[in-house]
Amino acid sequence: MKRKQFIKTTSAAMVGSMLTPMVSCKTDTKQATKSKEVLQRTNWAGNYTYQADTIYEPKSVDEVQQLIKKLDIQKALGSTHCFNNIADSPKNQISTKKLNKVIELDKANKTLTIEAGARYGDFAEMLHKEGFALHNLASLPHISVAGACATATHGSGVNNKNLAGQVRSVELVKPDGSLSTLNREHPDFAAVVVGLGAFGIITKVTLMLQDTFEVQQDVFLDLPLESVTSNFEDIMSSGYSVSLFTDWQDNKVSEVWVKRKVSQEMADLDNDFYGATPAKKNIHPIVALDAVNCTEQMGVPGPWYDRLPHFKMGFTPSAGEELQSEYFVPREHAVEALLAIEKMKDEIFPHILISEIRTIAADNFWMSPCYKQDCITIHTTWKQKPKEVMALLPKFEEALAPFNTKPHWGKLFTIDAETLQARYERHSDFVALAKKYDPEGKFKNGYLTKNIY
Ligand SMILES: Cc1cc2nc3c(=O)[nH]c(=O)nc-3n(C[C@H](O)[C@H](O)[C@H](O)COP(=O)(O)OP(=O)(O)OC[C@H]3O[C@@H](n4cnc5c(N)ncnc54)[C@H](O)[C@@H]3O)c2cc1C
Repeated sequence: MKRKQFIKTTSAAMVGSMLTPMVSCKTDTKQATKSKEVLQRTNWAGNYTYQADTIYEPKSVDEVQQLIKKLDIQKALGSTHCFNNIADSPKNQISTKKLNKVIELDKANKTLTIEAGARYGDFAEMLHKEGFALHNLASLPHISVAGACATATHGSGVNNKNLAGQVRSVELVKPDGSLSTLNREHPDFAAVVVGLGAFGIITKVTLMLQDTFEVQQDVFLDLPLESVTSNFEDIMSSGYSVSLFTDWQDNKVSEVWVKRKVSQEMADLDNDFYGATPAKKNIHPIVALDAVNCTEQMGVPGPWYDRLPHFKMGFTPSAGEELQSEYFVPREHAVEALLAIEKMKDEIFPHILISEIRTIAADNFWMSPCYKQDCITIHTTWKQKPKEVMALLPKFEEALAPFNTKPHWGKLFTIDAETLQARYERHSDFVALAKKYDPEGKFKNGYLTKNIY
C-alpha cells in the first residue's frame, strides 16, 4: 500500500451506513474449515478453536457502536495471536480486522492515530519514512495494536516499557454503544489500555512517537550459563534491546541477540562477548532453522522497525504450529529464577522449541505484570503437544512461585485464579471499574470469569 493511503485522514472510507453483514460460523462449518482466514475460527497457532457462534467485521466506528448496542454478549477479536481463550466469546466476536486505517500523523505533536485493528507492521515503515519511530516492538510485527496493548505485550530492553507504554489515548466504544476518549490523564486510562477486553471495544489508538533511529543487530553464540548468572545486568544492558535464546541444555545460552541504537559514539562489541562468539551469518532463534524470515543481523544498520522485531513483516514467522508460555519475574530475582528453570532442563527438553529471556521496565497499568516492577520474562515456544505442555506448566509455575511470577495474559498458563489475583495489587480496583463500565457483563467471557472476576 502506498504511503499516501496510509496517512489519509478519516474520510468516506470510514463512513459505513450499513451494519456489517455477520458471518455465522454455526451454519457454515464447511466454509469455516475451508476458509479459516475469513472466519477466524481458530487462533493463529491453531491450538484454540473459538466457540463464538458469530463473527462480525465492522468497517467503521459507527458500525461498532451499532453492533455493541444491538448485541448482548460479545468480545473484541484482534489478530488472533493469543494462545488461550482470552479473545473468545460465548456468543459474538467483533473482529477489528477491517478497522486498520491510519487516521492521522501529527508531526508537530509527534503522535500517530490509527484504528485499533491496525498491525504494527502496517504503518511502521511509513512512520520511519516520515522521520518517526515507536520506542519498541514485539518479536513480530503482525499483531494488532489494541490486542497487543490489551495483554501487555512487550519487546525487550532494560529501559523499555511494554507496548502499552507508548499509548497517548484510546477511543473506546463502551457497552452501551457510547464513545469515550481516554488520555493519559484520565483516571481510568491505566486500567482500560491493558484492559483484557473487559471495558468495551477500543476503536482508535493514539501512539506517542520519537524521532526515527537505526538499529544494528549482532548475534553471539554459546554464552556460558556461568557468564549469564555472573553478569546478567551487564549482558542485558549491552544494547537497547537484548534477548537470550536457550533450550536450557549444555550449561549455555545458545544465542544472544543484541540490538543497539546506531550512534556515532557506539563502539564495536568485543569478539569475546562474555565468553560467547559472534555469529558468522544470520541466525534463526532456533539455530537449526533457516534465518530467511529473520530481520537482518551481522551488525548491518537498518530502520528500527526492521531490526527490533525478530521476524520480518513480509514473512510468516513460522507455521504457527507451536504453543507459547511466558512468565514475568521481578528483575531482582532474575538469576535465581533462571537457575530454577535450568534445573528442569531434562523435563523441558522433549517438548521445547526455544526459550527467550527478555527485560521490561516497570509501568503503571493496573493489570500489567510489570506494574511498578522492572521484570524479566521467561518465554518458551513449545512443540504443539498440548497435553504434555499443559502437564509441564504447573511445574514451571511452581519453580517460579517463590518470585511471585505472573503469566503473560495471552499465553498458556495454569496458575489458579486466587493466586493470580493476589499477585495483582490493583486487581480489585480493576474488577470494580470493569463492573462499572460493563454492569451487564456484555464483555465477560470464560477467560475473565475464570481468571479475573
Ligand atoms: C508468533 C507470536 C509471537 C509473539 N510475540 C510476542 C512478543 O514478542 N511479546 C509479547 O509480549 N507477546 C507476544 N506474543 C503474544 C501476542 O502479542 C499477544 O497474544 C497479543 O495480545 C496478540 O494481539 P492480538 O491482536 O492477536 O490479540 P487477540 O488474541 O485477538 O486478542 C487479545 C485480547 O485483546 C482484546 N482486544 C483485541 N482487540 C481489542 C480492541 N480493539 N478493543 C478491546 N480489546 C481488544 C481481546 O478481546 C482479547 O482480550 C506473540 C504471539 C505469537 C503468536
